[in-house]
Amino acid sequence: MHRIQASYDMGWQVRSSGHKYASPTGHALLIGTLTKKVLDSVVYNKKCGVCTAHYSRYSSYENVKKNNCVHNYEGTSKAMEATALVEMLARAPEKLNVSICTIVSDDDSNGRAKAQHVTNGGKLPVMIGKPTFLADPSHRKRVFARAIYKLASAPQKTSKVSKGLAGHLKYCYGACVKRNRHLPKEELSLKVYNVLEHICKNHDNCDSAWCNDLKAKEKLKFTMHHQNIESKQRIKTLTYN
Ligand SMILES: [Zn+2]
Ligand SMILES: [Zn+2]
Repeated sequence: MHRIQASYDMGWQVRSSGHKYASPTGHALLIGTLTKKVLDSVVYNKKCGVCTAHYSRYSSYENVKKNNCVHNYEGTSKAMEATALVEMLARAPEKLNVSICTIVSDDDSNGRAKAQHVTNGGKLPVMIGKPTFLADPSHRKRVFARAIYKLASAPQKTSKVSKGLAGHLKYCYGACVKRNRHLPKEELSLKVYNVLEHICKNHDNCDSAWCNDLKAKEKLKFTMHHQNIESKQRIKTLTYN
């Protein structure tokens, strides 16, 4: 069976601000990272219109008229994300004839905990291979930007970050991760910290391949060096003539 890498995320019909999730429905997609094609999907509904209407009238689900009931989920809207992931991982071998060995996703810790084997406190059947997780870089960029923009909208005495600087930091962070994503974690982390040094005009650890300030500095050094040689030569000609 082929082992493939897939990207996973869930969306909700309603997401009331920030970390509150109260949506009645959620939809999740599993997408092949190489083909960019949808491999599998799940839609969860916490409510069914027909059944809910019946219940509010009779305070009971007894004798509810036959309907194409969409109610297929109990629990919190947030927990849907992990549940849908486990459901798709578990059925991938039979449904798609592949085993999902790596998941690229946001940092939902609940999903990571549930995608462990049942013997290990998770929800994944033991005959299904446990996936490893990789971080989605665009999600990380959003998380980073959220914190920086928060600083930008704080009062001046709290933070000197402007909206323009926040945008530039977001761009630099994204470009840095994209350029260095192949590096080991420790080296990548040093590169990311260098974004701050670069913004603060310390270009010691920058690379002139992308840092325009360093490029300008090197050009200046180069010109000065040549001017130096030329003037030395001029002095020589003056002396020996
Ligand atoms: Zn129903
Ligand atoms: Zn620089």
